[in-house]
Amino acid sequence: EAGARAEKSRAYRLSGTSVFRYLGYITLSSLLAATKAPYPTQLYQMKLLIAEDDLTSRVMLSGVTAEWKFEPIAVADGKAALEEMTKEDHPYLLLVDWEMPIMDGVELCKRIREVEERGCPPYIIILTSRSGTANIVTGLESGANDFISKPFEPNELQARLNVGRRMVLLQQQLSSAFSRLQLTASVFTQAREGIIITDIQGTITEVNDAFSNITGYPRDEVLGRNPDILKSGRQSREFYKEMWQSLNDDGYWSGELWNRKKNGEFYPELLNITAVNNEDGKRTHYIALFLDITKQKEHQLQLEHFAHYDALTNLPNRVLLADRLQQAISQTSRRKLYLAVCFLDLDGFKQVNDTHGHDVGDLLLVEIANRMKKTVREGDTVARLGGDEFAIVLTDFEDPEASLPLVKRLLEVASKPILVNRLKLQVSASLGTTYYPQQEVVDADQLLRQADQAMYQAKLAGKNRYHTFDTVSDREIRGRHESIEDITTALEQGQFLLYYQPKVNMRSGEVVGAEALIRWNHPQQGLLLPDKFLPIIEEHPLSIELGEWVIETALSQREEWRSFSGEFSLSVNVGSLLLQQVDFVSRLEKILQRHPEFNPELLKLEILETSALKNLKHIQQAITNCKEYGTSFSLDDFGTGYSSLTYFKQLKVEELKIDKSFVFDMLDDPDDLSILESVIGMASAFRRTVIAEGVESIEHGEMLLDLGCDLAQGFIIARPMAADDFGNWYQQWQPPQSWKNRPLVDSGDIPLIYAMVEHRAWVRTIGNFIVNSSISLPEMDHHQCRFGQWLYQQLDLNHYKQKIMTEIVEKHRLAHQLGNEIIRLVGQGQSGEAEETFSQLQKVREMLIHHIRSLFNEHNGGL
Ligand code: C2E
Ligand code: CA
Ligand code: CA
Repeated sequence: EAGARAEKSRAYRLSGTSVFRYLGYITLSSLLAATKAPYPTQLYQMKLLIAEDDLTSRVMLSGVTAEWKFEPIAVADGKAALEEMTKEDHPYLLLVDWEMPIMDGVELCKRIREVEERGCPPYIIILTSRSGTANIVTGLESGANDFISKPFEPNELQARLNVGRRMVLLQQQLSSAFSRLQLTASVFTQAREGIIITDIQGTITEVNDAFSNITGYPRDEVLGRNPDILKSGRQSREFYKEMWQSLNDDGYWSGELWNRKKNGEFYPELLNITAVNNEDGKRTHYIALFLDITKQKEHQLQLEHFAHYDALTNLPNRVLLADRLQQAISQTSRRKLYLAVCFLDLDGFKQVNDTHGHDVGDLLLVEIANRMKKTVREGDTVARLGGDEFAIVLTDFEDPEASLPLVKRLLEVASKPILVNRLKLQVSASLGTTYYPQQEVVDADQLLRQADQAMYQAKLAGKNRYHTFDTVSDREIRGRHESIEDITTALEQGQFLLYYQPKVNMRSGEVVGAEALIRWNHPQQGLLLPDKFLPIIEEHPLSIELGEWVIETALSQREEWRSFSGEFSLSVNVGSLLLQQVDFVSRLEKILQRHPEFNPELLKLEILETSALKNLKHIQQAITNCKEYGTSFSLDDFGTGYSSLTYFKQLKVEELKIDKSFVFDMLDDPDDLSILESVIGMASAFRRTVIAEGVESIEHGEMLLDLGCDLAQGFIIARPMAADDFGNWYQQWQPPQSWKNRPLVDSGDIPLIYAMVEHRAWVRTIGNFIVNSSISLPEMDHHQCRFGQWLYQQLDLNHYKQKIMTEIVEKHRLAHQLGNEIIRLVGQGQSGEAEETFSQLQKVREMLIHHIRSLFNEHNGGL
């Protein structure tokens, strides 16, 4: 039974192309081969059971059949013969006497036939001194296949035994073909993929259950029809033409397309079609396998949206702004008009946040964003850059000054009072503006920097005003020159050094890599972090030189660590300009050649998507070339700024690094958690390794593990450290107990993680309320808060163990009691007591979370 189960599960696991091969192989080659097998003429050695009570006959029959290429096994009565037949490797051909003691031949036949022999029944010849029709009928009716009367001619016996031998062989072939067919059928019915088999004209001859589940068409309704019924009309005729072309040429097609279900719903599918040939190489069938990939697509859309829009205000973000600005620039040039770029920063926003809390600040930002959007015209863009910074692109002006009325309107709407939660708030804005075209060639980045610079001037001049960028006396340029000189000197004098931060597998504790991070040991200012100097040289050739220095230095360092036990990789950040060099790969090769001891497979280049997208073809080529000697790529800060998933799919990077901003807030921000989950899902859908950066606490690590992300980097594991410290750290590091051997979380339990995070979010808001009582309160009714809604729904569904659920309900109610108590205390100005109660609340939260955790893997499927 265990064997059968294993067989079944093996069949179930076959999917994709292997099912193809399986189906193709079994149904159409071997099955045909087996059924069309030639009538066996060659005589195979075969076991023969002889049941004969007469010793002389027995010896004689054994001798003669052995000569005829049988392996005789002789027994003296029917019972012994029956025992022989229960053995594992029993004969299938029997020669049986009628008259025998204990059990006669007729009885033996009956007994053998009683046992339901699946697939291959034995072939029995009765050899007896009896004769006459009545005896022959009795013998055959009892289950014998043949009847020979003594005395007999030896050559007749030989011929009849050979008939038996051939029959057994045919039976055996048929039965093995049959069991293969059964396996094939179970692969077919149990596959997760929808399967369609058509004949050469494209008429459907068979579909499986998954087909009906996905499309909604029952089998009967589609047999004899054409798969066209699924067409969505969303693909062009060229698309189908190419599909057929490739089926004709290669016998294979694979790709994504949109189809339509019976109920009219559209769905995306991943489709593989294979042409099936018969033995003569003639095409007889097509087999199509498909998967509904709606879920993956939804992830994709969600990711695309958050890649382009700011989550709070729903305004375009920096990425989309860059796109729009680029477009606006080329349109403006074509139309010979002007455009204005504004950089707007709110005055006094920090105070609002500090006095009224972030929630109020958020509402204020949303309101101002909406007002500004209403103020500008269609075709203009208002984008949020982050915090209280906005950028506005205004287009189609005859001359630059024509934009000023609109600029003034923007300042006005930003400084009008706003009512938030019965609070009247008022801020103002400082705005910098610049124009395109200018005397010199400028690009989008420069325009934004100019506007930013002008905004700063507006702040200096007293806020609540605008300032226009002065292209003539551009001080910023000079400032930049000085710094570039400093950095050049620093490089010459060896003031740069590399720190290293480990990348680990949190589950196994393995150190999988180290990332090199640059530091500037500044003679006056001490150790400087990269954001203090890298931006200055970002677009200067000096960044290429510095980038090469980093790779060179990191490689030497890794060579020094060769004596360490592990084969951990070495990650190096590659800046945009270096990456864009046409000869980037040969530059890298030269460095590698100078380090012949270094295994290039250990090198991982971390790149930002923004720089990869600047010249996609070039980067793809670089990635391909580097792959040749094993060097791989990692997409850094993933989730913050890629413009399209189509590009992303084309970028054959091995690793995605989830940006730390998503990791920071995952514990008590359900939105960030869902983004994180999407990214992890996305990575696995595209078969990329995923690593989280910015893991600052054990709990962060726990949740990442639960979500299926095992690799991580972050302060809780190790801060970036000097090369000399790395060895010690490497020797002694151990993952926290709760990371080691953490059980895998079933995807069905992911809602539990969300529930925990919802509750944490609620507790966090209560905490904020103690600090700042003007923020809006969270939902205080324990049925109505988001966790409560989830909880009571679960109670109805009865998915989880009653006992734990009762505990959870109790703890949750207690949490709300404490919450209400805190609000009362804050209202009475007893903030000390409120704080105390809050620490109780935190303890209750931990207990609650502990209980929720114990529900993992307890889901009983809604029974
Ligand atoms: P990155 O590549 O995203 O590097 C990770 C940054 O996150 C590092 O900052 C690291 O110290 C910090 N970090 C790591 N774990 C945590 C954590 O748990 N919490 C927090 N809050 N931060 C954490 P660092 O060293 O200041 O580097 C900043 C950025 O500068 C890097 O971001 C990278 O983009 C760039 N950079 C650093 N070294 C180089 C280099 O050699 N070449 C180039 N082109 N860029 C570099
Ligand atoms: Ca990095
Ligand atoms: Ca990063």
